[in-house]
Amino acid sequence: MNSPAVAAPWDAKVDRLAEVAVTVGLGLARGQELVISAPLDALPLVRRITEHAYRAGASLVTTLFADDEATLARYSYAPDESFDRAATWLQDGLAAAYRAGSARLAITGANPALLAGQDSGKVSRANVAFSKASRPALELITRHEINWTIVAAATPSWAKLVFPNLPEEQALAQLWDAIFRTTRIDVPDPVANWRAHGAQLQSRVKLLNDLRFSALRYKGPGTDFTLGLSDDHLWCGGGSTAKNGIAGFPNMPTEEVFTTPHKDRADGTVTSTKPLSYQGTLIDGISVEFKAGRIVRASAKQGDAVLQGMINTDDGARRLGEVALVPHSSPIAQSGLLFWNTLFDENAASHIALGQSYSTCLINGDSLSKSELAAKGANESLIHVDWMIGSGHLDVDGVSASGHSVPLMRQGEWV
Ligand code: ZN
Ligand code: ZN
Repeated sequence: MNSPAVAAPWDAKVDRLAEVAVTVGLGLARGQELVISAPLDALPLVRRITEHAYRAGASLVTTLFADDEATLARYSYAPDESFDRAATWLQDGLAAAYRAGSARLAITGANPALLAGQDSGKVSRANVAFSKASRPALELITRHEINWTIVAAATPSWAKLVFPNLPEEQALAQLWDAIFRTTRIDVPDPVANWRAHGAQLQSRVKLLNDLRFSALRYKGPGTDFTLGLSDDHLWCGGGSTAKNGIAGFPNMPTEEVFTTPHKDRADGTVTSTKPLSYQGTLIDGISVEFKAGRIVRASAKQGDAVLQGMINTDDGARRLGEVALVPHSSPIAQSGLLFWNTLFDENAASHIALGQSYSTCLINGDSLSKSELAAKGANESLIHVDWMIGSGHLDVDGVSASGHSVPLMRQGEWV
């Protein structure tokens, strides 16, 4: 990134990414506070975002940086009891900030395989402790009380995983290019492009909501699976309006339309089509069997211990909280890259998520109590983990309440 030949255009694109994240992704309001979380290597993007946030009228921007080296030091030297701890005070503070109206911007880009060589028991315990501590803040986010968004910054360790055969400098440049392309920064008018893209996804959402399927049926290699949709489910996608009235895009990029499955109505076998990076470890070759909504058998060819730890977090971790459809022709799938990062890989393939559901994907979901949500089939859990089941070989049918079946996707594409 230091070579003078690429410095100017790269700087300009990072600046555009920052501007689009603040204006289109967050829709940041004048006077609103902003909390950013970011890996240390994302500093150049953080600085540009901070500038654009203040120029958009942010009253205060606060950034929390995470450092991979410091995380590894914990695994090497911390006493055993460390792994049941989390900075609860910090998570409580974040929840307080969101309750007071702060927006949230997360920058993803940390090394997806950082903890791959670490003791999986410690990793699982640390994940559970973190999930518990961050529950109040996460609830405000999943209920969409505030406007929030996630964008990516290329970092050397992430780039090395995506482009293992390139020298570091080149890998980093290529990953930035992929981010700019898939995040629609590489077009003459990114803001207009995002608005048009959002409108297109919203028309797909409207169509699915008008069809009111009661279930989806999946068939593909290693997948034969029926998934009941939640009663009063609403398809979402193409951006959303938070309860504070601010419209934005929670994920950049986004190519998915998604809704809430019924937690007690999944049956059959599902096989993952891409590896999953979960809290610094890689899980690949996942195969699970559902009975009445609950995972009764799960295995992974790689990262099995972490997968088992994840689904044992709580009862809801064995049930589904999200189902999303993404065509195989999505620009991210067409890039042919495996990003090892859920923000990108989930937008390259149809996916399902174990754990917490989004109440915004239910009719009047945001005004329902926990027991009312559960009665509609909405799942509750400390985790929310997306994993990819789509490919160019996946067929999906929509099934109506009367049992009538309509082809939705064939060989991974919308019918
Ligand atoms: Zn999703
Ligand atoms: Zn998700």
